[in-house]
Amino acid sequence: MIGFSLSDEQKQLQADAHAFAVEVMRPVSRHYDLTGEWAVPVYQKAWEAGYLQSLVPKAYGGPGKSQLDEAIVCEELAWGCAGLYTSIMANGLAITPILIAGSDQQKKTWLSKLVEAPLFAAFSLSEPNAGSDAGGMTCRAEKKGDVYVINGTKCYCTNGGYADFYTLFCSTDPSRGARGSSALIVPRSTPGLTVGKALDKMGQRASNQIELHFENAEVPVANLLGKEGMGFIIAMKTLDQTRAAVAAGGVGVARAAYEIALDYAKTRIQFGSPIIMNQGVSFMLADMAVKIEASRLLTYQAAWMTDHQIKNSKQSAISKTFATDTAMEVATDAVQILGGNGYSREFLVEKFMRDAKLLQIYEGTNQIQRLVIAKEIQQGN
Ligand SMILES: Cc1cc2nc3c(=O)[nH]c(=O)nc-3n(C[C@H](O)[C@H](O)[C@H](O)COP(=O)(O)OP(=O)(O)OC[C@H]3O[C@@H](n4cnc5c(N)ncnc54)[C@H](O)[C@@H]3O)c2cc1C
Repeated sequence: MIGFSLSDEQKQLQADAHAFAVEVMRPVSRHYDLTGEWAVPVYQKAWEAGYLQSLVPKAYGGPGKSQLDEAIVCEELAWGCAGLYTSIMANGLAITPILIAGSDQQKKTWLSKLVEAPLFAAFSLSEPNAGSDAGGMTCRAEKKGDVYVINGTKCYCTNGGYADFYTLFCSTDPSRGARGSSALIVPRSTPGLTVGKALDKMGQRASNQIELHFENAEVPVANLLGKEGMGFIIAMKTLDQTRAAVAAGGVGVARAAYEIALDYAKTRIQFGSPIIMNQGVSFMLADMAVKIEASRLLTYQAAWMTDHQIKNSKQSAISKTFATDTAMEVATDAVQILGGNGYSREFLVEKFMRDAKLLQIYEGTNQIQRLVIAKEIQQGN
């Protein structure tokens, strides 16, 4: 059966997340955009609301939210501020490798930390010379007795400057390429690990990305997730599951831009009438509405498939591509509808345009999503 209504619990979750976005995020979003400061008071409240740890299963003391729940919340949080949303959402990304491949003991040790305090975790796959081609990673972990010795550099690690631990992907057997990669949990306090300076960005400036440098950093072999050689598979499974939350971010940014553009078009008078009376403007708004609705349906579908353990590589890539391309298009058109005001910092649409761009890049660029979709359809999926 197909159903298009949310449960009462999901409606409440949505209403609460929207109230959080209105009361806690929007009032400070410009401040954090301008300063790039780490928004401690927002994250404290996000943790109290259960958003920082939403994917931690009930068995480990967390709220045990589904990916569909996560998508519902993420749309609202990104509506509030995409930069703050990214910091919150990236905790879910970071812990998903543990949810997928962690042992019961690893889950108890690492997931329960996020329940006990407003802590951050970070997902570390990208390297300076291995971005889209993540399988070409060279960060090396060599097993020596009961430790892995890690050497190399990672980059663009979201939340990395403030994380308590990292889910790190590195090569344990360079001769096997991507099949020789493994996933390790690395505590921030590991000797030999240094955190670089924060990336200065165009948008989503409230979020934090850093480089990680490993020089003979040792972690216990007990921190290996799954088996050696499974790292790339764990990373790809993680991204299949979490892309719906990025797509939901796209829906949130697009909706935020659309709402401002719609209000403006109804009230801005030129040539004696509201500008919405011009078909050139109203059709832009109609196209926005079409794509936002379609994006949300694709997002819910991809999340629902994860929740029902249905392979969704194609659908999650489609939802991420469509929703984040939509966010970029809608934010750009919203700037156009507001004319000179759209370009001014007095209105938020210029921020949404800068914020939307990142959604098309991280968790795999939209070109890479199209590669995934193309491969899936070539295989008849
Ligand atoms: C703010 C921010 C946050 C991030 N957060 C994280 C994080 O938390 N953890 C993490 O591991 N990574 C993170 N990333 C990294 C992000 O996932 C990569 O930037 C992204 O995957 C692209 O890699 P790249 O930047 O090296 O670009 P490249 O791989 O060098 O690509 C450059 C361009 O070439 C295109 N391209 C490359 N190969 C192909 C191809 N085969 N076909 C068509 N086009 C292609 C790309 O689409 C892109 O347009 C983040 C990045 C940013 C900017």
